[in-house]
Amino acid sequence: MFFRSHYTIVTLDDVKASVAGARPLPPRCLLITFDDGFADNLEYALPLLRKHAVFATIFVTSDVIGRQERLWTEDLLWAFTAGRVRPCDLARLHALLLGQGEHDPDDPKLIWDIVRRGPELDDEQVQAAFSGLNIDLHRITWPRQMLTRDGLAHLVASGVSIGAHGKTHTAMTSSSDVATELSRPRAVLNDIVIAQGQSSVDALSVPHGAYTSGIVNQALAAGYALVFTGDPVLSTLKNGFLVSPLIGRLDVDGRRIAPTGDFLPEVLAASLFTASQRQSGVALQFARPARHSRFASMAARCNLL
Ligand SMILES: [Zn+2]
Repeated sequence: MFFRSHYTIVTLDDVKASVAGARPLPPRCLLITFDDGFADNLEYALPLLRKHAVFATIFVTSDVIGRQERLWTEDLLWAFTAGRVRPCDLARLHALLLGQGEHDPDDPKLIWDIVRRGPELDDEQVQAAFSGLNIDLHRITWPRQMLTRDGLAHLVASGVSIGAHGKTHTAMTSSSDVATELSRPRAVLNDIVIAQGQSSVDALSVPHGAYTSGIVNQALAAGYALVFTGDPVLSTLKNGFLVSPLIGRLDVDGRRIAPTGDFLPEVLAASLFTASQRQSGVALQFARPARHSRFASMAARCNLL
């Protein structure tokens, strides 16, 4: 209700039309997005979207489609955050998985290094590393954690737009194969969504919000029309048209906004209305218009960072 009271909620197609110069966005517009491809997007988010008659976009990591479990890196992060991973075990795990020798166990970068680089590692290598360590990931296998192909098809048929979120969920700035991280999810997801009426998958959300100007340019060259980041900025519109295909998002993680689990309108409003505005694209330099409006894109995150 808060969003509908203050914004015109637009679709991914509306945003694509704006960046292509075909159709302007309305004033005070907002795009709602979810990342990763969790099954609860179908179970919980879709009924709420329908109830309030609003649109959303889900960015999906193609390798996790149909999996019972979350990525092991996410389970590791939750275990670490809950204090269930000893620093010495984490440092050993880092050395086993990523090499480069032993690190200071209290180095705060260790966990993020594993979370960002781990998803592309070979399963056998990961299992071998964990087998010698005392780390319990408390893996959840029921209910199914990730969306299935059928679930994705149902979402598209229900009006949800699907975008890509990498192949493995490895940060592209650390990936050994950025080209495949860009191309594979498009191929897998196109195979699912086109039959349900979505024209194609041509929007990308970069995993972990990690990108460089080179990666953005590579994504655009690979056929993506829009690249969504985790930068907490509003996007500039000139006469209703987006001036950059690089789009920031404001995280509405409920744990940050309202510890009770409910959004507090006044806190949400403050985070939206005081968000900074992208001065210029990191990858593509655009002149800032003299008169401008703003486009908000919000990443609603139920499970992931
Ligand atoms: Zn993600």
